[in-house]
Amino acid sequence: MQALMQDSPLTIPQLFHRAERQFHDKRIVTTTLRGEVSNTYGEWSTRVRRLATALDGLGVPQDAKVATFAWNTQSHLELYFAVPCTGRVLHTLNIRLFAEQVAYIVEHAGDDVIFVDRSLLPMLWPMADRLATVRHFVVIDDGAEAEIPDDPRIRHYEELLASAEPFRGRFEVADENAAAAMCYTSGTTGHPKGVVYSHRSTVLHSLVSLTVDAVGLSERDTILPVVPMFHVNAWGLPYAAVFAGSSIVFPGPAMKPEALVEMLERHRVTTTAGVPTIWMGMLPLLGEHDLSSLRVVVGGGAAIPTALSEGWRAAIGIPITQAWGMTETSPLASVASPRSHHEGLDSESLIQVRATQGQAVPLVDLRIVDMDTGAEQPWDGATPGELQAAGPWIASAYYGDEGSDAFSADGWLRTGDVATMDEHGFVRLVDRTKDLVKSGGEWISSVELENVIMAHEWVAEAAVIAKPDPKWTERPVACVVVEQGGQLTADEVYDHLRERVAKWWLPDEVWFVDELPKTSTGKFSKKDLRERLLGQSQ
Ligand code: AMP
Repeated sequence: MQALMQDSPLTIPQLFHRAERQFHDKRIVTTTLRGEVSNTYGEWSTRVRRLATALDGLGVPQDAKVATFAWNTQSHLELYFAVPCTGRVLHTLNIRLFAEQVAYIVEHAGDDVIFVDRSLLPMLWPMADRLATVRHFVVIDDGAEAEIPDDPRIRHYEELLASAEPFRGRFEVADENAAAAMCYTSGTTGHPKGVVYSHRSTVLHSLVSLTVDAVGLSERDTILPVVPMFHVNAWGLPYAAVFAGSSIVFPGPAMKPEALVEMLERHRVTTTAGVPTIWMGMLPLLGEHDLSSLRVVVGGGAAIPTALSEGWRAAIGIPITQAWGMTETSPLASVASPRSHHEGLDSESLIQVRATQGQAVPLVDLRIVDMDTGAEQPWDGATPGELQAAGPWIASAYYGDEGSDAFSADGWLRTGDVATMDEHGFVRLVDRTKDLVKSGGEWISSVELENVIMAHEWVAEAAVIAKPDPKWTERPVACVVVEQGGQLTADEVYDHLRERVAKWWLPDEVWFVDELPKTSTGKFSKKDLRERLLGQSQ
């Protein structure tokens, strides 16, 4: 028997129309190089409607890819909606990639037009001639003085909007499984690969972000997404925020810790999210600001060291809430907030709960699988396996059918992360499969070693990499950045470690470095470290 419910597709226009109707007086604030700009959702929605018409005016085909090369701003949010609401595909380009990678990605995706913030034009324009598929470069005025070349491919965002009539009526996208957006993986090995999100996956992902055990975003929240809108759609938070009707504060190019903490305070922000390097940079400043409005600080993209999370808790009363995900998982897959069965735990045990990658959010299934036999591993909190994911916002393939080995025979995503799971499904990431240190037939978790080293008061950052070893196959080497004004010797690092890890885990060497190389999304780049320190190309 068939059910008798209406079959309305889950599409991004539904988020847009609800926000336009119900939250027209809520505010969106953006920091620009000219100061702060504040608009209502009502003003934003009219601009989305103008942009929809402007895309037609530019002759952008119905299912073309529309790229952005931009900061976190209101205009970026206009593109986030106008592009998919008109059936086109939003392609956010990572502004921190090398020219070679950007050119590869633009060509691979076949982008038709790129919307670029004026302050970023000097980075993009030198490669313009290599971007053969791109017919237009639309420059968004963000207050920068950067020179705008005299070239017929250049258009001006504000002029386009001013000359376009707002689209009238409802945006309609008939097929909820049509592509809405795409994002390329950061490509730690090989070429970046394209992940293509659907309307349906985006709506469901946003909906679950609003649930209380996930991010719990609501109409009463003010959110400041620090995570860039080119990094997995700022973890889907702009869509979730519009869905909920939250007030939004966009930092624009003001990404320095001092500017961010000042915005958090001044706008009484309740919810924010970013990678640990951002929270590390802000930690020393927290005491000087009133951040009592903050309800949740989400950290993800890389493991959150317990010392960092506890540092935040000591300074402002709330720790960092760890979330785990990937470009391929939209990205929200699990969140580590304590559950009722953790009630009554002592504070040290609670710290350990928060140090996990948490429990899968609704509609996401996680499992761990033996890396050699492929057998599913028990949820006993001890047996490690490759973490695999399935669900309506988990990728089933890459654009252009590349990288099919990332998917299991039964269609699960092989994440490349190694984890244990406890009886309640709390995931503890042991390592990336590629970063585990294989020593004498046993595995050493580089993540766990880093965590212990970073708990030392004079350590600012630490990364552990594997060094080839004729006897043991590999041995760990620790690369340590000393806190400013601090002093630390290798012996002191060993003394600290000896009390906390097994003897055979002690790194063979401790190297002090001025800074750790970071990836384009702000994570420690072990690939670069290996290249620099060991001369390995992977
Ligand atoms: P990306 O697709 O660039 O966002 O990278 C995804 C990868 O980042 C995952 O496969 C993990 O290795 C890592 N990652 C994301 N969140 C976490 C987390 N909370 N803890 C540890 N690693 C994480």
